[in-house]
Amino acid sequence: MLDADFFRRWMAATAASVDREAERLTALDSPIGDADHGSNLQRGFTAVAAALEKEAPDTPGAVLTLAGRQLISTVGGASGPLYGTLLRRTGKALGDAADVSEEQLTHALRTGVEAVMQLGGAAPGDKTMIDALVPAVDALGESFAAGRAAAEEGALATTPLQARKGRASYLGERSIGHQDPGATSSALLLAALAEAADE
Ligand code: ADP
Ligand code: MG
Repeated sequence: MLDADFFRRWMAATAASVDREAERLTALDSPIGDADHGSNLQRGFTAVAAALEKEAPDTPGAVLTLAGRQLISTVGGASGPLYGTLLRRTGKALGDAADVSEEQLTHALRTGVEAVMQLGGAAPGDKTMIDALVPAVDALGESFAAGRAAAEEGALATTPLQARKGRASYLGERSIGHQDPGATSSALLLAALAEAADE
C-alpha cells in the first residue's frame, strides 16, 4: 500500500528532477512556445516541496490536493492550472484514506487526466502533456516502470505532431518537428513516481 510518505517522496522526486531538467524544458519551450516551461515548473514544484515540508499532510489525498493548489497559485503559464488540476483531482479521487493501492492510484490518476482534458480541451494527438499522460495511465495497471516508459515514449512521439492546443498551436505546421515541453515534463512526473516506488 502507498501512504502519505510515499506521495511526499513522489512530489519531492518530481521537484528535484524538474530542478535538474529546467533548462532542457525551457529550451524545448523556446522554438514552439515562450521559453518559460522549465522556470514555470521550477517555481511551482519548489513551492510544492516547501508547502509539503511545512504542512506535512498525513494522507495521500491531502498531499496531492495541497501540491495541486500550490501549482495553481504559483505558476502563471498554462501548465500551472493544468498540472494543478491533475494533482488536485487525483488527490480528491483518493479521498481521505491513510493508504491506497496501486490500483486506486491508477484509477484516481485517470480521473485527474480526464479533468485536465476537460479543462484544456486537448485530446491525444494534439501535441500536449496529454500525449504522455494518457498512455502512462493506461500502462500503470501493469507497473510503475511501465507507466514511466509509456510516458517517455508518448513524449518522444509528440515530435512529428502538429500542435492543436496551447501556445504551440499558433505556429500551425511550424510546430512539427519539435518535442512538446509539457509532454516531456509529464514524463518526468511519471519517472519520479517510479523512483518513489523504488526507494
Ligand atoms: P505557457 O504555454 O502558458 O507558456 P508552459 O510553457 O508552462 O505554459 O506550458 C506549455 C505546455 O502546456 C505545453 O507544452 C503543453 O504540453 C501544455 N499545454 C498547453 N495548453 C494545453 C492544453 N489546452 N491542454 C493540455 N496541455 C496543454
Ligand atoms: Mg511557455
